[in-house]
Amino acid sequence: MKNSNQNAFVKIFNGPDRPLQSETWPLPETVGAGEVLVEIALATICGSDLHTLSGQRQVATPTILGHEAVGRIVKVGSMREELAPGDRVTWSIADSCGTCPACTEHKLPQKCQSLFKYGHAPNSDGTGFNGCYASHIVLRQGTHIVKLPDSLSDRVVAPANCALATVLNAVSRFPDSCQSVLIQGAGLLGLYACALLHERGVEHVFCVDIQEQRLAQIERFGGILIDGRAEHYPQSREKILAAAEYGVDAVLEVAGVAALVPEGIRLLRPGGYYGFVGMVHPNSQLALTGEQIIRKCLTLYGIHNYAPWHLEQAVQFLQSSIDKYPYESLVSAPFPLAKLEDAVKMAQTQEWCRVSVRA
Ligand SMILES: [Zn+2]
Ligand SMILES: [Zn+2]
Repeated sequence: MKNSNQNAFVKIFNGPDRPLQSETWPLPETVGAGEVLVEIALATICGSDLHTLSGQRQVATPTILGHEAVGRIVKVGSMREELAPGDRVTWSIADSCGTCPACTEHKLPQKCQSLFKYGHAPNSDGTGFNGCYASHIVLRQGTHIVKLPDSLSDRVVAPANCALATVLNAVSRFPDSCQSVLIQGAGLLGLYACALLHERGVEHVFCVDIQEQRLAQIERFGGILIDGRAEHYPQSREKILAAAEYGVDAVLEVAGVAALVPEGIRLLRPGGYYGFVGMVHPNSQLALTGEQIIRKCLTLYGIHNYAPWHLEQAVQFLQSSIDKYPYESLVSAPFPLAKLEDAVKMAQTQEWCRVSVRA
C-alpha cells in the first residue's frame, strides 16, 4: 500500500474474533514537544502480538498492535535536538516519565507509574498513532530513540527493541564468572541469548528445544545443541553434566513453559542463577519448593522488558557481531501490511522466528 504524503495507512485490531481493519488516517500536521513522527520501514510480529490476536492476552480496542520495528524520522518536535528528519531509528517499547521512583531509584523505567507501551494502547490514547502495524507512528517525549548504522538491515534490527533488548537485560544479570549456561528454548530469544553469551566468552552455552527447525539453528548462533525430545534427552543431559560436573552456573528460561523449571533447578549448581523471561502468562504455576531454592542457595529472578541503556547495547551488539551470526535469516521477507492477516497466519506456523510486514 503506497501512502501519499498526507496520509497514513493503519491496521486496526478490534478484538480476537473480528477481522483486522485497514484504514487511512490523515498524518498529524505538527508534532508536540519531544514527539517524533516516524515512517515505519519494517515491523515484525512478536509472540505477544500473536497472543493478543488470538485472545490469550486482553487489550483495549480499537488499537494498532505491533511494537517491534525500525523506521525513518519524518518530523521532530522540540527538545529532540539530537534527531533530524531522515534519521533511521528504533525506539524503546516503553515510554516513561523519567521522574517517578521506578524511573529513578529503582532503575526500572519499564515499570514507570505512568507507563505507556507501543502496540498496547487503544486508539483513543494520545494521537492514536500508537502501534507499528501502520505506515507511521508518533513517538512520545519519554521514549528512548536510537539512531541506526547502515550496516544493520531492517530485518536484522526490527526485533531489537523487544526480543534482543530483553534478552540482553536478562543475561546482564548473570555474574561475569559464568562458564556454563543452559538456555531453555531456541526461539528468537534463545538464539539471541546463545550469541550474546558466546560473544561474552561463556565456555559452554547449552540450548535446549524440542522442535527440529529450532534445534537446527542453535549451533549457527554459538550454542551447544541439547536435543530435548524424549528419546534424545538423556544423552543430551549427559553432555551438560560432562561439561558442568556440579551443575551449570545459570539457566535462562525463554520457552514460556513452566514444566521445564524443575529440570532447570536440578541442573543448576549450588549458588546458581535462574532468569525467567518467557513465562509471561498466567499459566505458569511452578512445581517448586522453597527448600529447593534455599538448600541450593539459588538466585531466581524475573525480567520483563528492558531499560533504554539495554536497547543502546542491543544495537551495539548487533553492530559488533553482524558478521558472525546470520540474524537476517531469522526474519521473513516482508509481507505487505495490507495483508497483515496472511503474515499472522505465517507467524503462527513458527516457520520463521519473526515474520515481517511493510506498508
Ligand atoms: Zn515483543
Ligand atoms: Zn516514571
